[in-house]
Amino acid sequence: MQDEPIDKEDILKDLSEIHKLDYEYSDGRILGSMCTEAHPFAKEVYCKFLDTNLGDPGLFKGTKHLEDEVVKSIGELLSLDKPYGNIVTGGTEANLMAIRAARNHARKYKGIVDGEIIIPDSAHFSFKKAADMLNLKIVEVELDENYKIDVESLKKVISDKTVAIVAIAGTTELGLIDPIEEISKIAHENNIYFHVDAAFGGFSIPFLKDIGHDLPVFDFSLEGVCSITVDPHKMGLAPIPAGGIIFRKEEYLQVMAVDSPYLTVKTQSTIVGTRLGAASAATYAIMKYFGKKGYSRMANDLMENTYFLKEGLESIGYEIICEPELNILAFNHPEIEAHEFAKKLENLGWKVSVAKCPIAIRIVLMNHIKKNHLKELLEDLKEIY
Ligand SMILES: *Cc1c(COP(=O)(O)O)cnc(C)c1O
Repeated sequence: MQDEPIDKEDILKDLSEIHKLDYEYSDGRILGSMCTEAHPFAKEVYCKFLDTNLGDPGLFKGTKHLEDEVVKSIGELLSLDKPYGNIVTGGTEANLMAIRAARNHARKYKGIVDGEIIIPDSAHFSFKKAADMLNLKIVEVELDENYKIDVESLKKVISDKTVAIVAIAGTTELGLIDPIEEISKIAHENNIYFHVDAAFGGFSIPFLKDIGHDLPVFDFSLEGVCSITVDPHKMGLAPIPAGGIIFRKEEYLQVMAVDSPYLTVKTQSTIVGTRLGAASAATYAIMKYFGKKGYSRMANDLMENTYFLKEGLESIGYEIICEPELNILAFNHPEIEAHEFAKKLENLGWKVSVAKCPIAIRIVLMNHIKKNHLKELLEDLKEIY
């Protein structure tokens, strides 16, 4: 750090130079991200709440009310009248809270000490972090030929050490929805905590169902579901960092509570202490601004783009990995290996990502990717084929 203060103008010039190194969503070249440009209105609201701290909610009663309202609204979307939970930094923290609740609950009520969590290979890597931090063993459940949890395999891996089963509504790599209704039944019969990771799908499945898309039930209407992760900063168009964790019962928060002596509340269940209220305020605002109709329209448009790309790809000979359920499409080149193929595309300016299960190019059709970008992409893909 230098000794003397520097003029704002000079600092801003410096920053904007550095900022130019970043890709911009609006260029339509970021094809592998689950995030997108936040809505301008959400950003405007976000800036008004930069000084709020939900770690000390007694001082920020208004902002705490906004967080509670957002939790309530998301709970309602997920068929839960009285939800408990928080707006946190993202899907990772939400999943960590869910697994922590499950572990503590199993420890308290079943005396399980060396717990295990059952997750599929398609699960987000945040569960590896959770298992590591919470000292849990990961037990893998097999996928069926459609890349979804194999229910028979699940029955076999349940043990008296299982503290949680995890399924996904909108997998990170392929956007697929696991057979959550069947898994819920199994979890309930075995009295095991069941967490649904809908970080990506939570802000689109309910809206797509509303307008007649035929998608499976994944929410709290299934009695075995104990918690759901939903990220406003993905399909919700809220600014980062906005993740949501919704619990069916208050006791799941209570088993994580620690005393917070010098604050305005007696206990705290979140992982983060001092935490920004701006994400809650921005999510509150954008949910009001869009309404169910706004989100349904966007989700439907993104599905249309997905089908447009799928048909375009197939018409030039590419084979897609699976029928898309949400706005994610994966495919391979008939000869070029996926990582090499991704590099070729990167040289042409396209930022795609490579899925690992199965290995394939994966495109997440977020709101910043428009039809004209897809047409340009298809032109390039035609050249490479
Ligand atoms: C993105 C994602 C996560 C992680 O969320 P972050 O906001 O990146 O922490 C977890 N689960 C699923 C299914 C995701 O798609």
